[in-house]
Amino acid sequence: MDVLVINCGSSSLKYQLINTNTEEVLASGLCDRIGIANGQFSYKPKGGDKITRNVDMQDHEVAIKLVLEALIDSKDGIIKSLNEIKATGHRIVHGGEHFTHSALVNDEVIQHIEECSDLAPLHNPAHLLGIRACKHLMPNTPMVAVFDTAFHQSMPPHAYIYGLPYEYYEKYKIRRYGFHGTSHSYVSKRTAEFLGIPLENSRIITCHLGNGSSICAVKNGQSIDTSMGLTPLEGLVMGTRSGDLDPAIIDYIAQKENLSTKEVLNILNKKSGVLGISGLSSDFRDLLAADEEGNLKARFAREVFAYRVAKYIGAYTAALVGVDAIAFCAGVGENAKFIRGKIVSHLHFLGINLDESANLETVGKEGIISTPDSKVKVCVIPTNEELMIARDTREIILKTQEH
Ligand code: ADP
Repeated sequence: MDVLVINCGSSSLKYQLINTNTEEVLASGLCDRIGIANGQFSYKPKGGDKITRNVDMQDHEVAIKLVLEALIDSKDGIIKSLNEIKATGHRIVHGGEHFTHSALVNDEVIQHIEECSDLAPLHNPAHLLGIRACKHLMPNTPMVAVFDTAFHQSMPPHAYIYGLPYEYYEKYKIRRYGFHGTSHSYVSKRTAEFLGIPLENSRIITCHLGNGSSICAVKNGQSIDTSMGLTPLEGLVMGTRSGDLDPAIIDYIAQKENLSTKEVLNILNKKSGVLGISGLSSDFRDLLAADEEGNLKARFAREVFAYRVAKYIGAYTAALVGVDAIAFCAGVGENAKFIRGKIVSHLHFLGINLDESANLETVGKEGIISTPDSKVKVCVIPTNEELMIARDTREIILKTQEH
């Protein structure tokens, strides 16, 4: 079954056409700067070269139309007709408490996604634009919504409730939701498979370290705690996000710098993290290069990042009452071997030792980076959120066809 996976941001749209029988990516690409001047469209068919075009796209519907045209193009297309696309799978950031699993899109599901827009104002409205555009362009193709929050709905109340007056949870649903759920779900399953341990009897800590970073405690295949909260600002020190801090700091900065709370939050989201600490870049490649040239702030930012990850691994070892495996994924986790080394250097107390040469060799691929005598296995498992979305979409479509 060919599934078109769509990940809509407010001004960008990533897509992949996946054959769910072979799990092959038939085509992939990006529509960038939607609704802004100097738009860019890219398309890469399986086995072919990437094609990039400058084209203005006034809205998401225009962008999706370009994608569909590229897929059936007589020269570079990969399918003959749009009928070959049996379903579209949409990544949705926030599903609130309503969605514990992926869902077939209908009016009710759209309404619930709309209701969660308050909690993800930058993301959910953009996802809905994508859903509406697909509905218009392919009215007979079913759609499935796959939520970043769904995997974490298994968290117990003591992990998701904040130490706030309980009425705020009752009135406004203020609680930990967690994000990157599709990635944590995929990586925890794959880690168990890769290491040959039974998922239903396992304690795995998954570390999704990218621009945005989060960490998850997965017990017997279910998320029991995760570092992001009501929004993706909480938890680890990230590329540009602060992660955990004393909430009193917000008012303190506002007073000192004569800023509004909104302006301070913007600083915490966009100008903090390793970018803020280093004053240089949010990108770990830049920080490594600067560190090698003797930039002490770049080194410090990387140390702060690694320390926070290690601290969470310690906390989640307690949450899981022990740990069998730790997995690294996403841009930093899959590639930044020096950062992984720094994190693992904090974990000797768990009986973990880094296999230096395995760590250096394991870049962008699966591998074990702890020594064979380590008490806990540490591995790298490249994430694949698109594949997970395609699998869920297929499963839901097949189930609805059975009824
Ligand atoms: P996003 O959260 O945007 O999906 P990614 O998971 O793609 O992010 O991760 C992007 C980050 O991964 C970059 O900002 C960069 O810091 C880091 N990264 C990517 N490749 C490498 C590399 N080879 N070495 C070190 N860091 C890398």
